[in-house]
Amino acid sequence: MTAIPPIDLTRQYHLLNDQISKAVTDVLSSGQYIGGSAVTSLETQLAANVGVTHCVSCNSGTDALYLALRALNIGKGDEVITAPFTFAATAEVIAMTGAKPVFVDIATPTFNLNLEKVETAITKNTKAIIPIHLFGQPVNMTELMRIAKAHNLWVIEDCAQATGATWQNQPVGSWGEVGCFSFFPTKNLGGCGDGGALVTNNPELAKTARILANHGQREKYKQESIGMNSRLDTLQAAILLIKLPYLEFWNKQRREIAKRYQDLLSQVDNILLPTELARGEGVWNQYTIRISRQYRDQLRSHLQQQGIGSMIYYPFPLHLQPAYKHLGYEKGDFPISEQMAQEVLSLPMFPGLSHQEQDQVATAIKTLMKETLEPDN
Ligand SMILES: *Cc1c(COP(=O)(O)O)cnc(C)c1O
Repeated sequence: MTAIPPIDLTRQYHLLNDQISKAVTDVLSSGQYIGGSAVTSLETQLAANVGVTHCVSCNSGTDALYLALRALNIGKGDEVITAPFTFAATAEVIAMTGAKPVFVDIATPTFNLNLEKVETAITKNTKAIIPIHLFGQPVNMTELMRIAKAHNLWVIEDCAQATGATWQNQPVGSWGEVGCFSFFPTKNLGGCGDGGALVTNNPELAKTARILANHGQREKYKQESIGMNSRLDTLQAAILLIKLPYLEFWNKQRREIAKRYQDLLSQVDNILLPTELARGEGVWNQYTIRISRQYRDQLRSHLQQQGIGSMIYYPFPLHLQPAYKHLGYEKGDFPISEQMAQEVLSLPMFPGLSHQEQDQVATAIKTLMKETLEPDN
């Protein structure tokens, strides 16, 4: 039995080894390591991929979200609605602008924002909503956009885990005013280091974001706003340009893996498998099952003993993190987020995961569930 990691990035790399080596060598020998044609060309292709007119690359998905908020002039005195069941960055960037993160619980069967609760959280200070397409499953964007329009709010899509996903056949990132992507290595389109980008149909927003990402300078040495240094390295852009044409292929593989987990595990009692909304097509950045709290950690260590890696995304919802104590939230405020934090377990999921490895994962789960839950059989 071979060990199965929760994610193995070397398989992707080996497929493109020669092409990536050549792209890297070309950049190294060009002497241009910041900006240049690889960066512009990637921006053009990403915008086209999402079906929008503008793309601004930057240093990370976190920066893309931060730049989007700043470019929309969101800051002190403003409120931004998002979910507490997400990666740290989503709420962090709101606080970094000086605005206040306002959490709204998530709803099953996806792990996304509960759209029925969003309206109750809107106040006169609300400026924007950040929906997260968590684990690669798209948020119901028709409904979210309806709410946003009715209340005149900006929508900033956190697409970090959902590159290539669609809602009603339209790519995520193209629904809101701006879509933010991450090229962190474990994302569906991942580089060999940090990277990110925002996409928009709003030329003014793109221009402002680009200026902010370059120290607030429209012209060199003239700062018109307080900006920052956030760039996508030429090397990363060159690597991402090689990988982008494979995104659809890899996402298809992820869908097949998800489908197969579904078949293998559907008969197992006491675990809940992830499901998709009918109008969305997800890209399975994670395959996250639910299992009641008393068995979750036991299952995780059982898998570990069999050499199978699994992950808990996310063990603590953000409203209970010390960093957000000042917001005054308490245990019980967002019961579904709190429950999911105790029940979720993400199984190995990455392009190149073999059938045999998946069978091994499924068998390990079934064995434990049988032993633990049916002692009399
Ligand atoms: C990864 C991630 C981010 C941040 O992206 P980085 O490139 O790591 O800064 C933001 N939101 C979500 C939901 C993520 O998963």
